[in-house]
Amino acid sequence: TDTDTSDEAVRATCDDATTCKRFATSKGYWKDPYIQHFARSVGERKAPEINRGYYARVQGVNHLLDAFIRKTERDCQVINLGAGLDTTFWRLKDENLLPRKFFEVDFPTVVARKIHNIKTKPPLSKPIIETHSTDSLLLDAHSLDSDHYCIIGADLRDISNLDEKLKKFQLNPELPTLLLSECVLVYMTPSQSSNLVHWAADTFHTAMFVNYEQVNMSDRFGQVMIENLQRRQCTLAGVEACQSLDSQKERFLKTGWAHADALDMMTIYSVLPQDDVARIERLEFLDEKELLQQLLQHYSICWATKDKLNLGLAQLAF
Ligand code: SAM
Repeated sequence: TDTDTSDEAVRATCDDATTCKRFATSKGYWKDPYIQHFARSVGERKAPEINRGYYARVQGVNHLLDAFIRKTERDCQVINLGAGLDTTFWRLKDENLLPRKFFEVDFPTVVARKIHNIKTKPPLSKPIIETHSTDSLLLDAHSLDSDHYCIIGADLRDISNLDEKLKKFQLNPELPTLLLSECVLVYMTPSQSSNLVHWAADTFHTAMFVNYEQVNMSDRFGQVMIENLQRRQCTLAGVEACQSLDSQKERFLKTGWAHADALDMMTIYSVLPQDDVARIERLEFLDEKELLQQLLQHYSICWATKDKLNLGLAQLAF
Protein backbone atom coordinates (compact mmCIF):
# COMPACT_ATOMS: atom_id res chain seq x y z
CA THR A 1 0.00 0.00 0.00
CA ASP A 2 0.95 3.68 -0.21
CA THR A 3 1.29 3.83 3.54
CA ASP A 4 3.80 0.99 3.52
CA THR A 5 5.83 2.67 0.78
CA SER A 6 5.93 6.01 2.54
CA ASP A 7 6.62 4.45 5.96
CA GLU A 8 9.50 2.55 4.37
CA ALA A 9 10.86 5.79 2.90
CA VAL A 10 10.59 7.41 6.34
CA ARG A 11 12.43 4.50 7.97
CA ALA A 12 15.22 4.88 5.40
CA THR A 13 15.82 8.48 6.54
CA CYS A 14 17.72 7.21 9.56
CA ASP A 15 20.46 6.01 7.20
CA ASP A 16 20.75 9.50 5.70
CA ALA A 17 21.19 11.01 9.14
CA THR A 18 23.78 8.41 10.12
CA THR A 19 25.72 8.66 6.84
CA CYS A 20 25.85 12.46 7.02
CA LYS A 21 26.88 12.39 10.68
CA ARG A 22 29.57 9.83 9.95
CA PHE A 23 30.92 11.88 7.06
CA ALA A 24 31.03 15.07 9.16
CA THR A 25 32.81 13.29 12.03
CA SER A 26 35.32 11.80 9.56
CA LYS A 27 36.18 15.42 8.62
CA GLY A 28 36.60 16.37 12.29
CA TYR A 29 33.47 18.50 12.85
CA TRP A 30 32.88 16.69 16.16
CA LYS A 31 33.93 13.36 17.70
CA ASP A 32 31.79 10.24 17.57
CA PRO A 33 33.77 6.99 17.79
CA TYR A 34 30.56 4.93 17.74
CA ILE A 35 28.80 6.07 14.59
CA GLN A 36 31.14 4.05 12.34
CA HIS A 37 29.49 0.91 13.71
CA PHE A 38 26.11 2.01 12.36
CA ALA A 39 27.05 3.43 8.95
CA ARG A 40 28.19 0.98 6.34
CA SER A 41 30.91 3.31 5.05
CA VAL A 42 31.98 6.96 5.15
CA GLY A 43 30.02 7.31 1.93
CA GLU A 44 30.29 9.94 -0.72
CA ARG A 45 31.50 13.45 -0.02
CA LYS A 46 28.96 15.87 1.44
CA ALA A 47 29.05 19.58 0.69
CA PRO A 48 30.60 21.80 3.40
CA GLU A 49 27.27 23.54 4.12
CA ILE A 50 25.67 20.14 4.81
CA ASN A 51 28.45 19.28 7.25
CA ARG A 52 28.13 22.64 9.00
CA GLY A 53 24.36 22.13 9.17
CA TYR A 54 24.80 18.76 10.89
CA TYR A 55 27.37 20.32 13.22
CA ALA A 56 24.84 22.98 14.28
CA ARG A 57 22.12 20.34 14.68
CA VAL A 58 24.20 18.01 16.85
CA GLN A 59 25.76 20.77 18.97
CA GLY A 60 22.42 22.56 19.35
CA VAL A 61 20.50 19.47 20.47
CA ASN A 62 23.36 18.32 22.74
CA HIS A 63 23.49 21.74 24.38
CA LEU A 64 19.89 21.49 25.64
CA LEU A 65 20.10 17.77 26.43
CA ASP A 66 23.28 18.14 28.50
CA ALA A 67 21.92 21.24 30.25
CA PHE A 68 18.81 19.29 31.28
CA ILE A 69 20.83 16.32 32.55
CA ARG A 70 23.11 18.62 34.57
CA LYS A 71 20.16 20.62 35.95
CA THR A 72 18.56 17.40 37.23
CA GLU A 73 21.94 16.04 38.39
CA ARG A 74 21.30 12.96 36.21
CA ASP A 75 18.26 12.09 38.31
CA CYS A 76 16.10 12.02 35.20
CA GLN A 77 14.98 10.07 32.15
CA VAL A 78 15.58 10.76 28.49
CA ILE A 79 13.28 9.46 25.74
CA ASN A 80 14.63 9.78 22.22
CA LEU A 81 11.59 9.51 19.91
CA GLY A 82 12.45 8.25 16.42
CA ALA A 83 16.04 7.74 17.57
CA GLY A 84 17.13 5.80 14.48
CA LEU A 85 20.77 4.79 14.80
CA ASP A 86 21.63 7.68 17.12
CA THR A 87 24.70 7.20 19.36
CA THR A 88 23.89 9.60 22.22
CA PHE A 89 23.71 6.81 24.84
CA TRP A 90 27.41 6.02 24.35
CA ARG A 91 28.46 9.68 24.37
CA LEU A 92 26.61 10.30 27.64
CA LYS A 93 28.22 7.25 29.20
CA ASP A 94 31.70 8.41 28.19
CA GLU A 95 31.00 11.91 29.55
CA ASN A 96 29.59 10.64 32.86
CA LEU A 97 26.23 12.14 32.01
CA LEU A 98 24.05 9.04 31.89
CA PRO A 99 20.53 9.66 33.15
CA ARG A 100 18.81 7.06 35.31
CA LYS A 101 17.42 5.59 32.13
CA PHE A 102 17.83 6.42 28.48
CA PHE A 103 14.94 5.23 26.28
CA GLU A 104 14.80 5.09 22.52
CA VAL A 105 11.77 4.43 20.33
CA ASP A 106 11.65 3.76 16.60
CA PHE A 107 9.82 1.47 14.17
CA PRO A 108 10.41 -2.23 15.02
CA THR A 109 12.41 -2.86 11.82
CA VAL A 110 14.78 0.04 12.58
CA VAL A 111 15.14 -1.16 16.18
CA ALA A 112 15.90 -4.71 14.99
CA ARG A 113 18.75 -3.38 12.84
CA LYS A 114 20.14 -1.29 15.67
CA ILE A 115 20.03 -4.20 18.11
CA HIS A 116 21.73 -6.48 15.58
CA ASN A 117 24.60 -3.98 15.32
CA ILE A 118 24.86 -3.73 19.10
CA LYS A 119 24.88 -7.51 19.50
CA THR A 120 27.61 -8.06 16.93
CA LYS A 121 29.94 -5.14 17.84
CA PRO A 122 31.71 -5.25 21.21
CA PRO A 123 32.52 -1.50 21.25
CA LEU A 124 28.73 -0.99 21.32
CA SER A 125 27.71 -3.83 23.62
CA LYS A 126 30.49 -3.47 26.22
CA PRO A 127 29.35 -0.09 27.60
CA ILE A 128 25.81 -1.46 27.97
CA ILE A 129 27.01 -4.52 29.85
CA GLU A 130 29.34 -2.39 32.02
CA THR A 131 26.49 -0.16 33.15
CA HIS A 132 24.21 -3.11 33.92
CA SER A 133 24.19 -4.64 37.42
CA THR A 134 22.99 -8.19 36.85
CA ASP A 135 23.64 -11.03 34.43
CA SER A 136 20.14 -10.88 33.06
CA LEU A 137 19.99 -8.37 30.27
CA LEU A 138 17.00 -8.46 27.97
CA LEU A 139 18.23 -8.45 24.40
CA ASP A 140 15.96 -9.96 21.79
CA ALA A 141 15.35 -9.04 18.16
CA HIS A 142 12.89 -6.24 18.92
CA SER A 143 13.86 -4.79 22.26
CA LEU A 144 16.80 -4.20 24.53
CA ASP A 145 16.44 -3.48 28.23
CA SER A 146 19.32 -2.84 30.61
CA ASP A 147 19.62 -0.75 33.80
CA HIS A 148 20.34 2.49 31.95
CA TYR A 149 19.48 1.86 28.30
CA CYS A 150 16.24 0.66 26.74
CA ILE A 151 15.35 0.41 23.05
CA ILE A 152 11.72 -0.13 22.09
CA GLY A 153 10.11 -0.88 18.73
CA ALA A 154 6.85 1.05 18.41
CA ASP A 155 4.95 3.36 16.08
CA LEU A 156 4.86 6.88 17.55
CA ARG A 157 1.45 7.44 15.94
CA ASP A 158 -0.09 4.78 18.19
CA ILE A 159 -0.02 6.51 21.57
CA SER A 160 -1.68 3.83 23.71
CA ASN A 161 0.76 1.19 22.46
CA LEU A 162 3.69 3.55 23.02
CA ASP A 163 2.56 4.34 26.56
CA GLU A 164 2.03 0.68 27.36
CA LYS A 165 5.45 -0.38 26.09
CA LEU A 166 7.31 2.41 27.88
CA LYS A 167 5.61 1.51 31.15
CA LYS A 168 6.40 -2.15 30.64
CA PHE A 169 10.08 -1.09 30.61
CA GLN A 170 9.76 0.89 33.86
CA LEU A 171 9.24 4.38 32.55
CA ASN A 172 8.73 6.51 35.68
CA PRO A 173 6.25 9.40 35.18
CA GLU A 174 7.45 10.98 38.45
CA LEU A 175 11.00 11.57 37.23
CA PRO A 176 12.01 14.74 35.37
CA THR A 177 12.00 13.66 31.73
CA LEU A 178 13.54 15.02 28.57
CA LEU A 179 11.84 14.02 25.31
CA LEU A 180 13.80 14.49 22.12
CA SER A 181 12.67 14.32 18.51
CA GLU A 182 15.23 15.06 15.83
CA CYS A 183 13.75 15.19 12.32
CA VAL A 184 10.83 12.95 13.30
CA LEU A 185 7.60 14.93 13.91
CA VAL A 186 7.70 16.29 10.36
CA TYR A 187 6.91 12.78 9.05
CA MET A 188 3.64 12.66 11.02
CA THR A 189 0.47 14.65 10.37
CA PRO A 190 -0.03 17.74 12.57
CA SER A 191 -2.70 15.93 14.58
CA GLN A 192 -0.48 12.88 15.12
CA SER A 193 2.44 14.98 16.35
CA SER A 194 0.11 17.08 18.52
CA ASN A 195 -1.23 13.90 20.10
CA LEU A 196 2.31 12.75 20.88
CA VAL A 197 3.30 16.09 22.38
CA HIS A 198 0.02 16.19 24.31
CA TRP A 199 0.61 12.68 25.67
CA ALA A 200 4.03 13.80 26.91
CA ALA A 201 2.56 16.83 28.70
CA ASP A 202 -0.14 14.65 30.30
CA THR A 203 2.29 11.94 31.38
CA PHE A 204 5.07 13.99 33.02
CA HIS A 205 4.65 16.84 35.50
CA THR A 206 8.27 17.96 35.11
CA ALA A 207 9.61 17.68 31.60
CA MET A 208 11.30 19.26 28.63
CA PHE A 209 10.63 18.50 24.96
CA VAL A 210 13.32 19.30 22.40
CA ASN A 211 12.28 19.19 18.74
CA TYR A 212 14.61 19.74 15.79
CA GLU A 213 13.10 19.97 12.32
CA GLN A 214 12.37 22.07 9.26
CA VAL A 215 10.90 25.57 9.53
CA ASN A 216 9.97 28.46 7.18
CA MET A 217 8.92 25.94 4.56
CA SER A 218 6.51 28.15 2.61
CA ASP A 219 9.17 30.04 0.64
CA ARG A 220 10.85 28.93 -2.59
CA PHE A 221 13.81 27.27 -0.84
CA GLY A 222 11.41 25.34 1.42
CA GLN A 223 9.44 24.14 -1.60
CA VAL A 224 12.63 22.78 -3.17
CA MET A 225 13.45 20.93 0.07
CA ILE A 226 9.97 19.34 0.02
CA GLU A 227 10.27 18.37 -3.67
CA ASN A 228 13.66 16.74 -3.07
CA LEU A 229 12.15 14.52 -0.37
CA GLN A 230 9.06 13.73 -2.43
CA ARG A 231 11.28 12.51 -5.24
CA ARG A 232 12.28 9.76 -2.80
CA GLN A 233 8.64 8.92 -1.91
CA CYS A 234 9.12 10.67 1.40
CA THR A 235 6.12 12.77 2.43
CA LEU A 236 6.58 15.52 4.95
CA ALA A 237 3.09 15.00 6.34
CA GLY A 238 3.72 17.49 9.13
CA VAL A 239 5.02 20.35 7.06
CA GLU A 240 2.07 22.59 8.04
CA ALA A 241 3.45 22.72 11.56
CA CYS A 242 6.78 23.87 10.08
CA GLN A 243 5.58 27.17 8.63
CA SER A 244 7.18 29.38 11.24
CA LEU A 245 8.86 29.51 14.63
CA ASP A 246 5.48 30.56 16.04
CA SER A 247 3.72 27.48 14.63
CA GLN A 248 6.47 25.34 16.18
CA LYS A 249 5.82 26.89 19.60
CA GLU A 250 2.03 26.76 19.18
CA ARG A 251 2.09 22.95 18.94
CA PHE A 252 3.39 22.84 22.52
CA LEU A 253 1.52 25.78 24.01
CA LYS A 254 -1.79 24.29 22.80
CA THR A 255 -1.14 20.88 24.34
CA GLY A 256 -0.36 21.54 27.99
CA TRP A 257 3.22 22.80 27.97
CA ALA A 258 3.81 25.84 30.18
CA HIS A 259 6.61 27.47 28.22
CA ALA A 260 7.98 27.16 24.68
CA ASP A 261 10.80 28.77 22.73
CA ALA A 262 12.11 28.32 19.21
CA LEU A 263 15.13 29.55 17.27
CA ASP A 264 16.19 28.94 13.70
CA MET A 265 19.52 27.21 13.20
CA MET A 266 21.20 30.33 11.77
CA THR A 267 20.59 32.01 15.12
CA ILE A 268 21.73 28.94 17.03
CA TYR A 269 24.87 28.69 14.87
CA SER A 270 25.69 32.28 15.85
CA VAL A 271 25.34 31.60 19.59
CA LEU A 272 27.17 28.26 19.78
CA PRO A 273 30.67 28.54 21.36
CA GLN A 274 32.39 30.68 18.74
CA ASP A 275 35.89 29.28 19.29
CA ASP A 276 34.63 25.87 18.22
CA VAL A 277 32.66 27.38 15.32
CA ALA A 278 35.88 29.09 14.19
CA ARG A 279 37.66 25.72 14.39
CA ILE A 280 35.11 23.90 12.21
CA GLU A 281 34.97 26.77 9.73
CA ARG A 282 38.68 26.14 9.07
CA LEU A 283 38.07 22.46 8.24
CA GLU A 284 36.64 23.02 4.77
CA PHE A 285 36.48 26.05 2.54
CA LEU A 286 32.93 27.31 2.02
CA ASP A 287 32.49 29.35 -1.11
CA GLU A 288 28.85 30.33 -0.80
CA LYS A 289 28.06 31.71 2.63
CA GLU A 290 24.50 32.52 1.47
CA LEU A 291 23.79 28.85 0.82
CA LEU A 292 24.69 27.94 4.41
CA GLN A 293 22.54 30.79 5.72
CA GLN A 294 19.55 29.70 3.64
CA LEU A 295 19.91 26.11 4.75
CA LEU A 296 20.23 27.04 8.44
CA GLN A 297 17.24 29.38 8.22
CA HIS A 298 15.11 26.39 7.21
CA TYR A 299 15.74 24.30 10.31
CA SER A 300 14.95 25.08 13.92
CA ILE A 301 15.07 23.86 17.46
CA CYS A 302 11.91 24.31 19.48
CA TRP A 303 11.92 23.47 23.17
CA ALA A 304 9.10 23.40 25.68
CA THR A 305 8.98 22.86 29.43
CA LYS A 306 6.66 22.22 32.33
CA ASP A 307 8.14 22.31 35.76
CA LYS A 308 6.05 21.27 38.76
CA LEU A 309 9.22 20.55 40.76
CA ASN A 310 10.47 24.10 40.10
CA LEU A 311 13.85 22.96 38.86
CA GLY A 312 14.21 26.09 36.72
CA LEU A 313 13.72 24.29 33.40
CA ALA A 314 12.33 27.41 31.69
CA GLN A 315 15.76 28.99 32.09
CA LEU A 316 17.44 26.34 29.96
CA ALA A 317 18.25 28.05 26.69
CA PHE A 318 21.12 29.12 24.44
N1 SAM B 1 16.60 11.05 15.28
C1 SAM B 1 17.58 10.33 14.48
C2 SAM B 1 18.71 11.25 14.09
O1 SAM B 1 18.50 12.46 14.09
O2 SAM B 1 19.81 10.77 13.79
C3 SAM B 1 16.94 9.73 13.23
C4 SAM B 1 16.30 10.73 12.31
S1 SAM B 1 15.53 10.01 10.88
C5 SAM B 1 15.50 11.43 9.83
C6 SAM B 1 13.82 9.83 11.36
C7 SAM B 1 13.57 8.62 12.24
O3 SAM B 1 12.24 8.69 12.78
C8 SAM B 1 13.68 7.31 11.49
O4 SAM B 1 14.52 6.43 12.18
C9 SAM B 1 12.23 6.82 11.45
O5 SAM B 1 12.13 5.41 11.43
C10 SAM B 1 11.67 7.42 12.73
N2 SAM B 1 10.20 7.56 12.69
C11 SAM B 1 9.49 8.38 11.88
N3 SAM B 1 8.16 8.19 12.08
C12 SAM B 1 8.05 7.27 13.06
C13 SAM B 1 6.94 6.66 13.71
N4 SAM B 1 5.68 6.95 13.37
N5 SAM B 1 7.17 5.73 14.67
C14 SAM B 1 8.45 5.40 15.01
N6 SAM B 1 9.54 5.95 14.43
C15 SAM B 1 9.35 6.87 13.46
